[in-house]
This record gives sequence, C-alpha cells and structure tokens, in this order.
Amino acid sequence: MDPLPTLRLERHAADVIAPRTLPPVTTKPEPIIDQTNPAPGQGAARSAALVTAIHARLPGLRLLTDALDRETYRLDETSYLRAGLPGAVAFPTTTADVAELVRIAAELRVPIVPRGAGTGLSGGAAGIEDGLTIAFTAMDRILEIDRENLVAVVQPGVINAQLKAAVAAEGLFYPPDPASYELCSIGGNLGTNAGGLCCVKYGQTRDSVLGLEVVMADGTVIRTGGKNVKDVAGYALTHLFIGSQGTLAITTEATLRLRPAPPPRLTMLAFFPTLDAAGSAVTGIAAAGLTPVTLELMDRVTIAAVDDMNDLGLDRTAAALLMIESDMPGAAAVDELERAETACRVAGASDVVRAADAQEADWLRQARRAAHYALERLGEVRMEDVGVPRARVPDMLRAIERIAAKHDVRIGTFGHAGDGNLHPDLVFERGDPTAEAKTEAVKKDLYQAALDLGGTVTGEHGIGSARRDWLEVQRGPDAVRVMRAIKTALDPLGILNPGRVL
Ligand SMILES: Cc1cc2nc3c(=O)[nH]c(=O)nc-3n(C[C@H](O)[C@H](O)[C@H](O)COP(=O)(O)OP(=O)(O)OC[C@H]3O[C@@H](n4cnc5c(N)ncnc54)[C@H](O)[C@@H]3O)c2cc1C
Repeated sequence: MDPLPTLRLERHAADVIAPRTLPPVTTKPEPIIDQTNPAPGQGAARSAALVTAIHARLPGLRLLTDALDRETYRLDETSYLRAGLPGAVAFPTTTADVAELVRIAAELRVPIVPRGAGTGLSGGAAGIEDGLTIAFTAMDRILEIDRENLVAVVQPGVINAQLKAAVAAEGLFYPPDPASYELCSIGGNLGTNAGGLCCVKYGQTRDSVLGLEVVMADGTVIRTGGKNVKDVAGYALTHLFIGSQGTLAITTEATLRLRPAPPPRLTMLAFFPTLDAAGSAVTGIAAAGLTPVTLELMDRVTIAAVDDMNDLGLDRTAAALLMIESDMPGAAAVDELERAETACRVAGASDVVRAADAQEADWLRQARRAAHYALERLGEVRMEDVGVPRARVPDMLRAIERIAAKHDVRIGTFGHAGDGNLHPDLVFERGDPTAEAKTEAVKKDLYQAALDLGGTVTGEHGIGSARRDWLEVQRGPDAVRVMRAIKTALDPLGILNPGRVL
C-alpha cells in the first residue's frame, strides 16, 4: 500500500491552536423558554428561612445569598432555556455538610439542584426559583489512586481532565472523555452518564464506575459499591444513580475504575464527498469488527467552522470527515488503521490522511473537541444529541439534511458516529426572532426521525428539563410509571432536582 500523505500542520505557529484550553464560552442570550420554574419572587420567604437555617446549623459553610452572585448559577450551557434564580448557593466541603443541607432543605421543602461545572446541555443543573443549588466546586479532591486495585476514589468536584492527568502520572488511564473534559466535573459526568470521544471502545461513564457514596433525599448517606470488580449484592444502585441527573440521590464520592495507560494513539482523517459515504464508512468499520478508540464525524459546516478557528488546512470541499484513532500497541494500531482505511475507501472516501506525530494528533483532537465553540463563532448555537443504532447513522444523517432544508435552518452536525450519537448544532443569527419557534420545530422532527430509526432523543446529554416531553414518547407510559415509582420511593417529598427527567 502506498504511504499515506500526512497533514502539514508544522507550518502553523504554535500559538494558533497550541493552548490546551477551550475558548471562553460566548455571552449567553436571554432565556426564552420556561418549562420548569414558578414565577420569580415566589418562595422568597422559604429561601429566607433556608438561609437562616444554613447559617445556624452550618456556620462555616460558604453560601451565596447576593442576587448577583446567585445569577451565575441560574443557567447551564442550555442558555436558551428559561431557568429560576436559586435562593441560595451552597459550597459544601464534606459529605456531612451535604447531608445536613439536604436535611434542612427537606424540613423546609426547598428543592435542591446539585451542580458540578454547569456545562450540561439539558438544563439539569440550571437553577430552580428560590431553590438551593449545591455546587460541588469545593469538594474537588482526588482522595486516592490505588494502583494495585486500579481504582481512583474522588470527590464529585474533581474536573475530568485533572483526574486524567493525575492518573496518567501514575501510568494509568481514566477513559471517560467528554469533549468538555477540561471543564466538566466527575459529579456532572456521573449525573449525566457522560459519553465522549472514546465510548466506542471504552463505554460511557457508567462503565468506569465501581461504587458511589450518595446522600439520599432524607439526608441518609449510603455506599453502593467499592473496590470490588465483581459485586452483585442486591440491586445495582450504582448504575441506577448514574445518569439520574441529581433526581434520585446526590453523589459525594465515587470509586472509579482505571486501566493501564494505553500506547499513544495513531490518528487518521478520512474525507468523504457525501454524508452518505461517511455514514456507510461508520457501519463498514463496525462490520469489519474494528473498535477504534475514536470514530468521530464532522459535516461540511463543522469542518469549515473548525478550520476557520484553527487553520488546520482541512479539505473544506468534503461533505464530511471521520476522525479515526487507534490506541492498540505497535503494529496492531497500524493494522487497525489500515483496515479502517480500507472500509473508508470502500465507502467512497475521497482522501485519507494521517497525523504525522503525536502533536498533530493532539491538535486534531483538540480541534474536534472545540467543534461546538467553532460553530458558536457563526451565531447562536443550540446543540442537539440524537442517537441511533450504528447501522442507521447514514439514515440519520440524511434525515438531518432533510430537516435542515425543510425548516431553512443552518445545521452543523458532528459527534460520536461510532456510537451512533450525533450532535446536530442549530446555528441562528444572533437575535433571530424565529429561533425559538424553529428550534422547537426542528427538535420535533429530529427526535421523531431518531425514534423512527429505533434511536433515542438523547445519547449522552440527558433528558434534563430540555427533553422532558419526549421521555414518554420514547420509553412509553409503563416504563415512565416505573421511573416515577422509583422517584417517589427514593424522594417522597420531591425535593431532588424536581422538574428534571420526569
Ligand atoms: C463544548 C461542550 C462539549 C460537550 N461534550 C460532551 C461530550 O462529548 N459528551 C457528553 O456526554 N457531554 C458533553 N457535554 C455536556 C456536559 O459537559 C456533560 O453533560 C458533563 O457531564 C456535565 O458535567 P458538569 O460538571 O458540567 O455537570 P453539570 O452541568 O453541573 O450537571 C449535570 C447534571 O448532573 C447533576 N449533578 C452534578 N453534580 C452532581 C452530584 N454531585 N450529584 C448528583 N447529581 C449531580 C446535575 O444536577 C445535572 O443534572 C459537552 C458540553 C459542552 C459545553
């Protein structure tokens, strides 16, 4: 086989994309949709009582009560959803603090919103009017890295990238890898069962968790597991709580599964003349029995936006690209990429290139992670999160194109194609008065198309408050009844993140 061309990124000055931080989040527009919260002002007396009780029973605890300070905790990254202004924002430093906060809130019937870094994309950590937001930024310690058992024990406020770096220094690897990994917290990752760029090989957050310490709605503290790799004693509470978006329990500690650090990745980009061809390559790679560590897709709109931001010299004439990586040892990685390349060429790839070295690979990965921010440079962006069985990716890509044309909305699509999980980003002119109505119409068609293909209305961001209307459509009334029964049993007062998920 002829040697592949390599990207020529050397010509770019290091400062073009070398900084390892994502660009700042753009200014949030005015919220315009209200789904969960009462009118502002209601419950002011209740939150005054809450503040008094917290000051009395947890005198050393950091508590935000000033309206301007609290305003920062109104929204998560779904800035277009209307949300409430929390009555108070507490920063516990211990599990005992959290348990006491929950007891106080239960006594006063105050709703609680657990919050990590607030990067969520479903309104899960957004404020509830006059409620109590418990922010975990001060519970950010890595308590233990246990090399013998390959586990890390962490508090929920630890940032994903910090944990990755700490375990990497020990020659270990924590796989969960959301594109927001430099910003988001382990508590938030557990809350959403976050996915990311290497789920195709290593699974979602849930697949890397052995046990949790959680505070229940009455302030009781329980442990759901520990360092045992195998443990089937009783119901799988760990898995129940992961992804429950703070509606069933509040996580105060997690025991996470580590792996030996894999070798550095080999990275390849394949460009396609049509979305259909790219979609076929995804199914072709899976059908060939390959499990690359990364199998990500960007469409034409996203390629151009990413290239404008990072000046990578990507092929902007392509309808789509796939980023494919292998972390297998030595020759096995070369073999995996060669077989993936064959699948891409069979599907109709117009070009295949490889990152020349680890630095180039890192730049490409960084650029992919920043795709959402690249699109935000074009206008106001609303990110969606549909998932379909992998073999239906070509159909879903076709549906997205059709829906964009039908509603005359610019959509940049990227995502974790290897998992069948796509993020159509709706891009509007800032201040476009039709944005809200068009978003609703596009969402409806996108969700219906995903469901028609046997898919889901959310692959990794969660139902939160943004997709509540669709839970029953997808799961059916009986399944939702079971969920409600669990919620009622564990949180009879309904104080844990009410109005989210159910
Ligand atoms: C640019 C960008 C890229 C992204 N890429 C990905 C991606 O690739 N994959 C992905 O899955 N997501 C992605 N996200 C979404 C988001 O980063 C994830 O959902 C992440 O897991 C949220 O973490 P957080 O710390 O910000 O949590 P938050 O937004 O603060 O909270 C998320 C949910 O978890 C709950 N929660 C937080 N802490 C606790 C706790 N201690 N106990 C109980 N519940 C808690 C909250 O109530 C809320 O419901 C992306 C977001 C952005 C902005």
